Amino acid sequence: MRDEIDQAQALLERADTIVVIGHERPDGDAVGSLNAVAIGLENTGKQVTSVLADGVPRRFLFLPGAERVQQTIPTECDLLIAVDCSAIERTGYDLESLPRGIDLNFDHHPTNNHFGAINFVEPHAVATAEVLFDLSAPLGLQIDTDIATNLLTGLVTDTIGFRTSNVTPKVLRMAAQLIELGAPLAEVYERSLNQRSFVAARYWGCGLSRLERDDGLLWASLTLEDRKSVGYPGRDDADLINLLSTIESAEVTLIFVEQSEGKVKVSWRSRNGLNVARLANAFGGGGHEQAAGAMVAGELDEVRARVLSATRKILGSNQDRGVK
Ligand code: AMP
Ligand code: MN
Ligand code: MN
Repeated sequence: MRDEIDQAQALLERADTIVVIGHERPDGDAVGSLNAVAIGLENTGKQVTSVLADGVPRRFLFLPGAERVQQTIPTECDLLIAVDCSAIERTGYDLESLPRGIDLNFDHHPTNNHFGAINFVEPHAVATAEVLFDLSAPLGLQIDTDIATNLLTGLVTDTIGFRTSNVTPKVLRMAAQLIELGAPLAEVYERSLNQRSFVAARYWGCGLSRLERDDGLLWASLTLEDRKSVGYPGRDDADLINLLSTIESAEVTLIFVEQSEGKVKVSWRSRNGLNVARLANAFGGGGHEQAAGAMVAGELDEVRARVLSATRKILGSNQDRGVK
């Protein structure tokens, strides 16, 4: 670790122009971590460009740094940093369309394939924001109020308001320190988790009208037609999966979101220690033991049948239950 920190410091010192990139369909940890790194490096005199292929979702526009995020990546830079991405493709770009290889990879996904020249991947961290918080001092980055607000947003969103089973006293202490540095917890919580747009609620209605369950599985589907009919601007599930996973009785909750070009975005959430990351991986995606996702090629009906069948198979399997 010490070696990596020294190497990262040397790279940062030498670089003038730096590009920071997070993952497509960004969540609060992707946007928060991106802004935190961008502001931190800018405060040390660097010229920093923040990139999100899909831009900043409306609910995160209040975050300091969000206003300068751009959707196109510069063709040149001295240093390229990825945050919250488990693989290069999660940036929304393939290697050929990036200005250079990824130099620094900050992440917390167990499925991260260490695509960076230097990798700071901590699978036990609740969010990339936690990884960055821990590395800020060793890397010589000072956490000001704007950075604290962004990091707290990463913690709050990836733990769904400190409710996931991986939340430790250390995480709560970190949150307390960020609040001491000026991060507004109530505002972060309200804007990034609680507030919904009217169209998002109607979009939820479309998914909820198709709620199904059997054999310990519970699932819903959202179509391109749903998005058109209610006017929902994103191509995600508007976080409906988090509502579905509060419904009792299901071991695994899934959502299928139809995409253009014959693809379906699948999300899994599990209970009782069932490992859905491995399953998501088998479908070309990744994630965490209890929250994973994948973009699967095929028509909605066909993908749903295939994914449900594969998910049913792991329900009875000890191998996927953390039992060695
Ligand atoms: P989601 O289902 O999109 O809310 O994502 C749940 C978790 O799985 C998050 O940690 C994501 O980073 C990860 N994930 C989602 N989609 C993908 C994908 N296509 N490839 C790799 N990881 C993914
Ligand atoms: Mn993320
Ligand atoms: Mn994350």
